[in-house]
Amino acid sequence: MVALVAEEDACVPHKIRFFNTLTRQIEDFKPLIPGKVSIYACGPTVYSYAHIGNMRTYVFVDVLRRTLEYFGYDVQHVMNITDVGHLTDDADTGEDKLEVGARREGLTAWDVAARYTAAFFEHAALLNIKRPHQVCKATDYIPEQIQMVEALQRRGYTYTTEDGVYFDTARFPEYTKLARIDISGLQEGHRVQVGAKRHKTDFALWKFSRPEERRAMEWDSPWGRGFPGWHIECSAMSIKRLGEQFDIHTGGVDHIPIHHTNEIAQAECSTGCSPFVRFWMHGEFLVLDDEKMSKSLGNVLTVATLKDQGFDPLAFRMLALQSHYRKQLRFNQDNLVSAAKGLERLRISTRRLSDEAQGAKFHGPLSQRGSEHQAAFDHALASDLNMPQAVAQAFSLIDDAKVVAPEKLHLLWIFDEVFGIGMFKAPAVSTEIPAEMTAMLVARNQARADKNWAEADRLRQEITGRGYDICDGDSGTVLKKRL
Ligand code: AMP
Ligand code: ZN
Repeated sequence: MVALVAEEDACVPHKIRFFNTLTRQIEDFKPLIPGKVSIYACGPTVYSYAHIGNMRTYVFVDVLRRTLEYFGYDVQHVMNITDVGHLTDDADTGEDKLEVGARREGLTAWDVAARYTAAFFEHAALLNIKRPHQVCKATDYIPEQIQMVEALQRRGYTYTTEDGVYFDTARFPEYTKLARIDISGLQEGHRVQVGAKRHKTDFALWKFSRPEERRAMEWDSPWGRGFPGWHIECSAMSIKRLGEQFDIHTGGVDHIPIHHTNEIAQAECSTGCSPFVRFWMHGEFLVLDDEKMSKSLGNVLTVATLKDQGFDPLAFRMLALQSHYRKQLRFNQDNLVSAAKGLERLRISTRRLSDEAQGAKFHGPLSQRGSEHQAAFDHALASDLNMPQAVAQAFSLIDDAKVVAPEKLHLLWIFDEVFGIGMFKAPAVSTEIPAEMTAMLVARNQARADKNWAEADRLRQEITGRGYDICDGDSGTVLKKRL
């Protein structure tokens, strides 16, 4: 673990700065309880496979958690599994996605949820995403959700229509504080087509089962048989697991205007405690040729697809690290191939360094140069998770002739605890240099020693023409295979 300069609080080891969607600013991060960080991550809706866009968001959350752990925080990471209530339409119409999945697959909604929850964790493991400390299924927290709706009702924030209990957004003046959108027109109910809703922004807290339909998932409630609206689960479960206020809430940018906006409304109006969350952090989308990848559009690629195409899933993780989480990641085969090459270069380098170190262990302290590399790495992480910069720092450490192999390995091991890309796995390409190439290098060095420049030059061209570079290392010139 790194020992960094203590600020005013010994439990806050480093000045970390994150972009907070709530304030639209990069702010100093300070947790509510010194030394501890609580994170709630919106989890998958398990009606089909999570796609690589979804997984990009979970890689971002995983890197956030690993970064905080690296800086010495005791992190509590909670994630939900949406296994009920997420309708096919954000406007509270349409069907429950789990019921749609059940019909498609001839299974019960419960079986669909179990199947895709298992698949989600398999894909997450292939990407070295750490399992959250607590995973909460929406269907396990129905009483808590009902209690929250009751609290909202008691406080006068709800109204009931023929199809459900709704949150009255006009009663919460701070409704748009996260999304910062102008909804004045939308809240004048008579101007918009909102069916039984009073205002377009109002949303369902509890939906009634229709008498003619038989639902696989429905529960008794003070308002009759039905099921929870999608947003209530996250407010109820996060508060149950982390308290009325916690440090960080994450999700993709699509959650800002509706899901997270509604979560804030439910949480703050039911508890009276504000702000519900200190830092809202959102990951930008992964896009395919300008369109978003979405389960409902059907243009999805999964981690399993990439694996079937012969890619190491961690090459995808490398790709995700090489673009900043707040920038769109344009995905195509070419940039996945170059990320795979970058990862291979790192693995070849750690293999070579291990050979060079010949089993020598690093016992510290860091050299001046080594400390500078680590400080630059820390700075990148603490600057709103600048992972592209942190990855570049690993390459620059590898190339630094002034740091010895055991120290480099020690630092790279620490860096990989945050990257999670398996830098020390065996490279796919052989790093062995064929004997005839070594003979050519020896002959070239001899020619140089003999001042036979023409022959030395001819041999150098021959070597580079065969895909090898001649590099000056600490122990003389060596050959490296070009990737
Ligand atoms: P869902 O399973 O649809 O509830 O989404 C799970 C997570 O993936 C949420 O945090 C979404 O915001 C996020 N997400 C959805 N689509 C994408 C995408 N194309 N790129 C990145 N994140 C996404
Ligand atoms: Zn959520």
